[in-house]
Amino acid sequence: MHNQCGFKDKRITVMGLGLFGGGVGVARFLANQGACVTVTDLKGATELAPSMKQLEGLPISFKLGGHCESDFADADMVVINPAVPRNSKFIQIAQNNDIPLNTEMNLFFQFCPAPIIGITGSNGKSTTTTLTTRILEQTRRKTWMGGNIGKSLLNSLDEIKPDSIVVVELSSFQLAELRNIKKSPHISVLTNLSPNHLDRHGDMDDYIHAKKGIIAHQTSSDYTVLNYDDPELRRWEGECQGHVLWYSARRPLREGVFIKGNSMVIAIDGVSTDVPGLSEVKLPGVHNLQNIFAASCAAYLAGARRQHIEKEITSFTGLEHRLEFVREVGGVRYFNDSKATTPESAIAAISAFQSPVILIAGGSDKGSSFEAFAEACVKHARSVILIGKTAQKIKGLIQGKKDTRETPAISTPETFKDAFMQAYRTAQAGEVVLLSPACASYDMFTNYEDRGRQFKEMAMAL
Ligand code: ADP
Repeated sequence: MHNQCGFKDKRITVMGLGLFGGGVGVARFLANQGACVTVTDLKGATELAPSMKQLEGLPISFKLGGHCESDFADADMVVINPAVPRNSKFIQIAQNNDIPLNTEMNLFFQFCPAPIIGITGSNGKSTTTTLTTRILEQTRRKTWMGGNIGKSLLNSLDEIKPDSIVVVELSSFQLAELRNIKKSPHISVLTNLSPNHLDRHGDMDDYIHAKKGIIAHQTSSDYTVLNYDDPELRRWEGECQGHVLWYSARRPLREGVFIKGNSMVIAIDGVSTDVPGLSEVKLPGVHNLQNIFAASCAAYLAGARRQHIEKEITSFTGLEHRLEFVREVGGVRYFNDSKATTPESAIAAISAFQSPVILIAGGSDKGSSFEAFAEACVKHARSVILIGKTAQKIKGLIQGKKDTRETPAISTPETFKDAFMQAYRTAQAGEVVLLSPACASYDMFTNYEDRGRQFKEMAMAL
């Protein structure tokens, strides 16, 4: 693939290096293709040090701590990071000068020789992407995983063959951009849809329109795997060009993937396969059963069979910070669900346990509605310990919903450590201490990983 993509000697501005892999991947790819690459970011060199280190030795010029108009007015192409808002003044400058815009994921879709499974949704993307990949790794088909999960596959293009299979996690921002090149995955998977990132998308219609990029350019030879249990997705069938397959963790279906006793039934094109072993699944909660069904359906369509699927779904213990079991102390089980940065993901977590829950929640405010979350707290939690910017708002809502009931008890300690110690003192044998914040972490922590690790360290130190 060296120098074959037509970027040799082209002057290309990469806007937004970031720390999540996409910016590094595309800068490296373009530099290796012989392009004259300028990487520019609002953040400075200190903050971006981990990403810059990965680009050491490559002929790239860096303009950090701000952007220069000339890099947008006078270039052959501008590659934008999906995190950059479309109304940025600099993107306008590029557009006014008729400079083509591109993204890391769009480039990958343009040059990838293998079929692509694309996975999106408001929650469960990373879990479903990882599980799909792990099932396919059991087969003989060479499987690649990347995208929003934090890995760019652009630099693997040389090794990806037409008979390989690629699994990518796609964010709404990546999907909005994918529409511009009129491409969609061969197998598209949607886990669920609830309001998310509305600070950037403006409203739910815009968010749904972005997500629909995953089906917009499918054809009749493609597949669309949809969650039957999600009311919004239920409305999508009429708009799909591909063969629609539904999955449900709640009811039997005529075709698709569904539950039958202890088995998952995969019924596709008149062939029905029973995959036993659901009671051995390690991931807690109905939402994880939905993730398992989605992943199994996608992997089946890409060639996995009963034995590959059964092996993985019964052994997969989940990803770090996603309802991750930390330890048991004095009969109390500690779970780290720091990645639950939306009310819906936290609701899924609180509802996943039969035992009473001592919940630690709250964080920075991205404008979400906490009504349903407060209801779930009243229904499932014995005690709710709230931290961060949203603490008072959530407290008010829970108080309103619990009326004169005694539980859940609510407290709003100052620090995360105080919150943890309160949870520790409150919890009794047989109960669960759960960190599932329903909010982003930026008011008190570097990111959700930092929050989750601090929680785990305190649990391990007990
Ligand atoms: P994403 O990549 O979409 O953020 P993850 O798999 O990383 O999704 O999980 C993020 C959070 O959402 C975790 O807290 C997890 O427990 C919760 N979650 C996972 N799958 C689902 C689902 N299908 N529905 C609701 N919440 C989910």
